[in-house]
Amino acid sequence: MSTLLQSPIEFLKGVGPLRGEMLRKEMHFQAFGDLLSHYPFRYIDRSVIHKIRELNPLTQYIQLKGRITGFRQVSTGKQKRLMATFRDDTGEVDLIWFQSIDFILKTLKVNVEMLVFGKPTLFNGEYNIAHPEVEIFTDELKTSGKGLQPVYSSTEKMKKKNLDSRGLTRLMHTLVGQMKEWDVEEFLPKHILQQFKLISRYEALVNIHFPKNESLLHEATRRLKFEELFLIQLQVLKVKSNRGEISKGFVFEKIDNHFDKFYHHQLKFELTGAQKRVLKEIRRDTLSGKQMNRLLQGDVGSGKTVVALLTMLMGIDNGFQACMMAPTEILANQHYESILEALRGMGLEVALLTGSIKGKARKFILENLAEGKIDILIGTHALIEDSVVFKNIGMVVIDEQHRFGVAQRAALWTKNEKPPHILVMTATPIPRTLAMTIYGDLDVSVIDELPPGRKPIRTVHRTDSDRLRVFGFMHEEITKGRQIYVVYPLIEESETLDLKHLMDGYESISRAFPKPKFQISIVHGRMKSVDKDYEMQRFVRCETQIMIATTVIEVGVNIPNASVMVIENAERFGLSQLHQLRGRVGRGAEQSFCILITGPKLSNDSKQRISVMCKTNDGFVIAEEDLKLRGPGDLEGTQQSGVVNLRLADLVHDGNILEAARTTAQNLIESDPMLSRAEHQPLLKYVSEIRKEKIWAKIS
Ligand code: ADP
Ligand code: MG
Repeated sequence: MSTLLQSPIEFLKGVGPLRGEMLRKEMHFQAFGDLLSHYPFRYIDRSVIHKIRELNPLTQYIQLKGRITGFRQVSTGKQKRLMATFRDDTGEVDLIWFQSIDFILKTLKVNVEMLVFGKPTLFNGEYNIAHPEVEIFTDELKTSGKGLQPVYSSTEKMKKKNLDSRGLTRLMHTLVGQMKEWDVEEFLPKHILQQFKLISRYEALVNIHFPKNESLLHEATRRLKFEELFLIQLQVLKVKSNRGEISKGFVFEKIDNHFDKFYHHQLKFELTGAQKRVLKEIRRDTLSGKQMNRLLQGDVGSGKTVVALLTMLMGIDNGFQACMMAPTEILANQHYESILEALRGMGLEVALLTGSIKGKARKFILENLAEGKIDILIGTHALIEDSVVFKNIGMVVIDEQHRFGVAQRAALWTKNEKPPHILVMTATPIPRTLAMTIYGDLDVSVIDELPPGRKPIRTVHRTDSDRLRVFGFMHEEITKGRQIYVVYPLIEESETLDLKHLMDGYESISRAFPKPKFQISIVHGRMKSVDKDYEMQRFVRCETQIMIATTVIEVGVNIPNASVMVIENAERFGLSQLHQLRGRVGRGAEQSFCILITGPKLSNDSKQRISVMCKTNDGFVIAEEDLKLRGPGDLEGTQQSGVVNLRLADLVHDGNILEAARTTAQNLIESDPMLSRAEHQPLLKYVSEIRKEKIWAKIS
């Protein structure tokens, strides 16, 4: 980086120590370069000059050309203000200033042709523009025009210190004016610039802030988006290729013992084509001599668990231990029980380790684990703790990855001298573009087929006033022998309020479904995990017909007899969460239902979400919709990854650029893995500089 862009921010003309401090605190700007990468979030088109006649109640911002015909100061009441009458050949409008009145009077002349830009408001039937931008219509302006003006985000505190969008524009103007070509180093190699016809970095930076015209703005944006996505892809792919080289993996040659026994004798159903395909992919990985790092995506109910189990058996057949980590105790318990059941009579040792297993029981497990007497360990985060030592772990399965950070994933690799194979499973279908960014370092398998015989879940929307009807329906289903979930939202900030809703709901349901004929389970986050388990188990054993819960049941719980999912306050859930919740039903042969209950009034976004849910059961369609509605930053599991804090690129619309960036990065790593060729030196230097910054630390 050049010295200009490295200069401390307070040295920029117009900044100084005080504002410098403010920019550091509020925006984390340390140097000129940080300011430069604060891109506008939109532009105002000032290339068009309008007429006063065109003002209408919908006008947002407008640029006018005309003359001030006179000033008048109004000082009645508390509000002292300066007004100017501004005319063009179609009418007149008032300009108003509440501050800097003396300054305005000194600088603005009557009867000089000028450009006025601002936001009109309608007051007593007349338009006026408060604190407009005014400038003399010089010859230079006549020829070049004002073009597109940047609009920058800033904070309340900054606005008070005149560092609003306009203030930042002034600073940016100073900086860009000072900047020469050589201050901005081009780090993309020529062959890439040529291949994608990208403009230089210098040109792009100048034009992203002060675009000379639409087409240059487009080129600048394209170049900077490409660079942003390319750098991320370079990083993730580098991690991947390094791992491939460094991490020799175990070879699982044999599958002729437990795997075969289970597959041919123990398994109660035929695997779906998709499950078989994924197993083949895993088999290939575990024979390759490299460490497997595979992401298994499969919609809720697609049967990931059995794939995980078979994968663990591959490891066991080759003399290794395996473990499976789940995000909640409930889920870990459930995996434990179902795997225990599935493996019954096979002589394998399966153990459960969660936070609530303490003292002697825990000690016993840890000892057996270290001695290699446990074949499969199932548990929660507790598995990551240092005290958990395996004799020789060969296969690690992580269920519902989006609940775990990248760091936690990494913590499990280090449990062995040679890293175990890793299978990460997620039921949150992630749009391809996002998967490539967040999980770019993993190979991806997809189960895109549900086990046969599943009937699509019927989803309907009901409002509070339909509650009696809903209760009636619940009655019918329970009479048929089905079980029902009723779920309430849980949002941390208002936990107490949510708990109240849940308890109110519990009361009204208890009244409608009285004991002893009906039994109700209740599970929420404030309960001790033993109590949660107890309630859950009652529901699993079909001793209760209704399960009232907060979203703790969202992930993974599998009770095929439950066929109705009622979601209260459905408008408060995100799309992917609704989909996850709905996935708790529809697991048996019966027709299942999902009832989304909302208040009578819905925002447009909520309406959209509910309607998507009623229309489709396809997790990938839902994920795409979610991405469109919320943007990637809000998608579950993306925050902790850090990679989606993109400055410019947008994973919804820039799929093409992302593909290009990824292919380019891939080719580059293949042809020059160490970036040692002369033409790649600037890139190497740039990458190692930014790696020190936090966004890179997060993903590497
Ligand atoms: P998820 O992918 O959501 O984790 P599970 O692994 O819990 O799904 O599987 C859901 C249910 O489907 C389980 O009851 C499981 O036994 C059953 N299942 C899985 N694969 C098949 C299959 N090929 N045929 C029939 N049932 C299956
Ligand atoms: Mg599951």
